[in-house]
Amino acid sequence: MAEAPRQIAVLGSTGSIGKNALRVIAASGGRLQVAALSAHSQLDLLVAQAVEFSPRWVVATDIQVAEKFDWSKLPKGTELLMGSSELNRVVGQPQIDVVLAAIVGRAGLESTWAALDSKKTVALANKETLVMAGPLVMQLARERGATLIPVDSEHSAIAQALRAGQTAEVERLVLTASGGAFRHLSQNQLKQVTVAEALEHPNWDMGPKITVDSATMMNKALEIIEAHWLFDVPSERIEVAIHPQSVVHSLVEFVDGSVIAQMSPPDMRLPIQYALYYPDRVGGVAERLDWGASFSLEFSPPDPDRYPALELGHQCARSGGTSGTVLNGANEAAVGSFLAGELHFTEIVPACRSVLQSHNFESDPTLDRLIDLDRWARQEVSHWVFA
Ligand code: NAD
Ligand code: MG
Repeated sequence: MAEAPRQIAVLGSTGSIGKNALRVIAASGGRLQVAALSAHSQLDLLVAQAVEFSPRWVVATDIQVAEKFDWSKLPKGTELLMGSSELNRVVGQPQIDVVLAAIVGRAGLESTWAALDSKKTVALANKETLVMAGPLVMQLARERGATLIPVDSEHSAIAQALRAGQTAEVERLVLTASGGAFRHLSQNQLKQVTVAEALEHPNWDMGPKITVDSATMMNKALEIIEAHWLFDVPSERIEVAIHPQSVVHSLVEFVDGSVIAQMSPPDMRLPIQYALYYPDRVGGVAERLDWGASFSLEFSPPDPDRYPALELGHQCARSGGTSGTVLNGANEAAVGSFLAGELHFTEIVPACRSVLQSHNFESDPTLDRLIDLDRWARQEVSHWVFA
């Protein structure tokens, strides 16, 4: 008998990951179906997605925007809900099999939490949830028996490579990094970069926040923390390699010196598809490497002076406790200020470092405490802003 279609909730469906996920689902020949969609803005696009995919629910998380919007084009069988608390309720509905957590930033925490709490399989793009609350999130997943599958391309690569050996046989994880939009600029040139320049990534087409994070290398810092909590590998055994081609998505080195890499052209639809069908692999929509053409792959160690964000990532992975939340909150606020033209590009990382250093570290915070500290860290960044 054919398997019943897998019912997917796509949280953040109007974003870069959300849209790619819908392309994976559209190409699934009915094996994957959309049960729910959520978005904060771009409600026209949300309605168009609902028309194409006929979900049981759409959730517009920004109530004020949603109440003013004309919903008359929403399909008849789709129920409209408003607000984040409705989203947290919907992800636990029995019809849903997999929740794709693709809301950007701290805003994705509660819905990811609610999905794990309801024992759902969570395909996790929202790395900030793990950066903020890694130990609590992993403990919740364990206690509920919920499966957490990374969508972040590096972590998907590592999860795939880890299938080649036992946990105790892992020597180190190597996260690859493209080097971001400004890898060729001098420190002086970096001071002058504009918002438009920071939003141009050489290899990936992503949302604004992660694109800026890639340029500052904070994205890799967040990914070090994410890898630490996901795979339970200490910070000193997580390395970063600059790899401009973005073809090797990350590597695992085993104790015998064997290194297993996962490779493909840069296309987020592949790690999304891997997570949505897990543990199966299917023929898909993503591009393939062309073995009929020659190509080269380069790797080099990152210069710590040029990429000071990396040390912050290691530091937070090492110390745990409240530090990930503070780094993440400060970074989200600093990136927001940079995008608003209120902070220089080169001040993003120093602002984060300063807030991290000035916070009162606690080793075993509750989720509520972390949520308070996230607010505090954002306020601290306001001292850096030139309004
Ligand atoms: P994006 O900005 O393109 O989309 C974000 C989505 O979240 C949108 O649907 C938006 O409506 C929704 N959203 C924004 N604020 C919200 C709020 N306050 N409450 C509820 N929903 C809100 O972002 P993206 O690039 O798709 O990234 C999504 C997540 O995936 C991020 O955590 C990012 O780090 C991660 N990720 C993205 C990529 C990529 O290629 N884009 C790769 C790896 C990981
Ligand atoms: Mg990544």
